[in-house]
Amino acid sequence: MNPARVAIVRCRTYDRAEVADAVARAIELVDGTKLVRPVGPVGQVGHVGQVRPPSVLLKPNLLAGRPREARVTTDPEVVRAVAEVLRAAGANDISAGDSPGIGSALKVMARSGWDGVVPDWVRRVDFDSGRPSRTKDHPDLELSAAALDAGLLVNIPKVKTHAYMGLTLATKNLFGTVIGARKAQWHLRAGENLGLFARLVVEIAYSFRPGLIVADGVIAMEGNGPGSGDPRPLGVILAGDDPTAVDAVLCRIVGFAPEAVPTLAAARELGLGTPDMGKIEVLGEDIASVAVQGFRPAAQSPGAQGIGLPGFLHKLLKGALTSKPVISTELCRLCGECARICPPKAIDLDLDAADRRGRLPVIDRKKCIRCFCCQEVCPYKAIAVKTGWLAWTMRRNAGR
Ligand code: SF4
Ligand code: SF4
Repeated sequence: MNPARVAIVRCRTYDRAEVADAVARAIELVDGTKLVRPVGPVGQVGHVGQVRPPSVLLKPNLLAGRPREARVTTDPEVVRAVAEVLRAAGANDISAGDSPGIGSALKVMARSGWDGVVPDWVRRVDFDSGRPSRTKDHPDLELSAAALDAGLLVNIPKVKTHAYMGLTLATKNLFGTVIGARKAQWHLRAGENLGLFARLVVEIAYSFRPGLIVADGVIAMEGNGPGSGDPRPLGVILAGDDPTAVDAVLCRIVGFAPEAVPTLAAARELGLGTPDMGKIEVLGEDIASVAVQGFRPAAQSPGAQGIGLPGFLHKLLKGALTSKPVISTELCRLCGECARICPPKAIDLDLDAADRRGRLPVIDRKKCIRCFCCQEVCPYKAIAVKTGWLAWTMRRNAGR
């Protein structure tokens, strides 16, 4: 089996020319344009004009409509550069879309700086209709029809920490192909079982035919990600042909242990993708030359969840081991987004009840499944993830 290829190219800023050069170089290193170059009658690549190039769907991370500087979404300059490279290689039907946690993709694009950056010939679409996916273990799972039908799906993740999944990178970005509110159903099904949810995410990622990945790691997000963290320059663009391979490389660049990213373990269990470095060919820069120190994780510690305690002890220590969402009195503006997205409806935003408790939404800890969707969507950075004391001690002793 050929190794998966991952290209690393330096890119310090979102200056248009610099991003265009870096994206073009990264795609060239993994020969990404072969996927849109017309194929000739004798099956050779590059016989222009013989066969129509495939339709291309760009799938950036459009979590929420925040300003570009918040680094919550894939930067529009990266989306633009990817579209330009593929168009120059022959693609002539290019669209871009997502299914954000809250609101429509079109609104998120407008709010996160797409106008005047991403060209008009890139059609903007909302993932608003689904159809059964090709996942064998979840036959009732519906994914975006636009994504399933695309001739080429180009996954353009933003490098960010994630309270639930450790990091959100290429694999997790494709969970965005689950249509809007149906994401909550899948969170509910997985409940507090992180491994189950990670396996679902991996299965979704591999239900699409192999495509191209271009990761925006120019300015990443560290800390309270994926919606409320802090910008952290990494200065890299990555390209690849396998989502878990790109994630495995990114994991090393930000200095996370692979076990801190449950989707890598899930891919290994399922025998999907290329999560092991031994099977990945790294092109361009060395990992060591771009790796950073002290990249701050989100408070949740996935690595501490599977420590193999006997069931009764785990039950006894659950409060100390697991993390929980905590709402800030100062920052909360009572907008209600957290209550709307909460899968088990564990958040009470009844104003009378909130008044009694100092004007805060009230979280029912018994119902909470610790999915951190509320922290993900809070537009005012009012929800932090508080780590259980035992998990915190373990993480400190492990040096991260
Ligand atoms: S915690 Fe955040 S999302 Fe929830 S009501 Fe307050 S401001 Fe809105
Ligand atoms: S309160 Fe937050 S973490 Fe708990 S279930 Fe609801 S959305 Fe998930």
